[in-house]
Amino acid sequence: MAKLKEPTYKRFITGQLSRFDTRNTASFRLRKKEATRPDEKEVGEPDNFYHRGPSKNEKRKGYEQKDYALVWAARTIDTLAMENLYCRDLEVAKTKMDVSNKAAITQQVKSVAHWLGADLVGICEVNHSWIYSHWGDISGSRSGRPAYADDPIEIPSWLKCAVVIAVEMDYEAIRRSPAIQPAPSLGYSKMAFVAPSLATYIRELGYHAMPCSCGFALMIPLAVDAGLGELGRNGLLITEQFGPRVRICSVFTELPLQVDSPIDIGVQAFCERCLRCAEACPSKAIMSGERTDQARDASRDASNNINVLKWPIKAPNCLRFWDRNKGSCSNCIRVCPFNKPQGWLHSLVRKIVKTTPIFNRFFVKVDRILRYGEQVIK
Ligand code: SF4
Ligand code: SF4
Repeated sequence: MAKLKEPTYKRFITGQLSRFDTRNTASFRLRKKEATRPDEKEVGEPDNFYHRGPSKNEKRKGYEQKDYALVWAARTIDTLAMENLYCRDLEVAKTKMDVSNKAAITQQVKSVAHWLGADLVGICEVNHSWIYSHWGDISGSRSGRPAYADDPIEIPSWLKCAVVIAVEMDYEAIRRSPAIQPAPSLGYSKMAFVAPSLATYIRELGYHAMPCSCGFALMIPLAVDAGLGELGRNGLLITEQFGPRVRICSVFTELPLQVDSPIDIGVQAFCERCLRCAEACPSKAIMSGERTDQARDASRDASNNINVLKWPIKAPNCLRFWDRNKGSCSNCIRVCPFNKPQGWLHSLVRKIVKTTPIFNRFFVKVDRILRYGEQVIK
């Protein structure tokens, strides 16, 4: 795989990047009723995006009470971590282990992350542009002392590197989308074990560490900087190994670690030829046109970071669909040609996509003919 000096998004930056305000995320704005036109139904409370069970007269296959129950079972550990572990800068051991051998400590941290359950691990220096400007959610925001919604986020002076972790989501579960499926919830709970546990390990070596999944920083650009993948048209991280079928979290630390190089796996050229996610998006949240460096529908949609050419997502539309669907959606993961199970044939195609973009249109066609990405509810 091509290792780069600069991430692939760098050539698309057109202006000053500023720290994104968590209060502009779609879920926060919909809860505050700031992203709703007069002709649209209010979405309201968080439970409206994450339904507890089927409606009374629900008849659709894949929307049974047992399906919802599995989603909430899978989410159990994440709920605990959100309330007690994430975004906490907790006490460190009084003695510091010698970490002067940078290569050795980096290898050690990565091995422990994998041992705890990480599927992919990369390390980057932290670009402060990716850290949110304000706390937006009271339940997940503490940094040494309690922090509350609307408080500015102070970047700890010790913060140097991010250990960025991706966990794979289950292929078969994602195939059910947009029917109820537990893969994202289980991904969150796996991260809720890995990231806080790795943070504890680093603190016990005598160094600051803070685990985060959301609320503190933008995980996708951090993951790109750490060499885990590239940003796709669907607004998600596309990894070489699992495509967009991952969840991402980070452990921020003061440990002096060796950073990884960003990578080019051919996503930018492929997404220019492929529209599968845009076509499969039930809420028209994903663009089918050219990249833009502006927010979509700027009059009411502040939920995009501007000044970088990409395919910004209309995130409020996405969450409105979750509300109508009575459950979350992963169609943009399910249909992505980079989302494939492991196997020699898919590995070969991935290799060609990386080096020979001339075949991209052909591969998209074959993907459709072979009916990859279709919904399957077993
Ligand atoms: S999750 Fe579903 S509704 Fe949201 S952007 Fe992806 S495909 Fe569209
Ligand atoms: S579905 Fe196609 S266009 Fe969308 S992110 Fe995947 S490769 Fe890119």
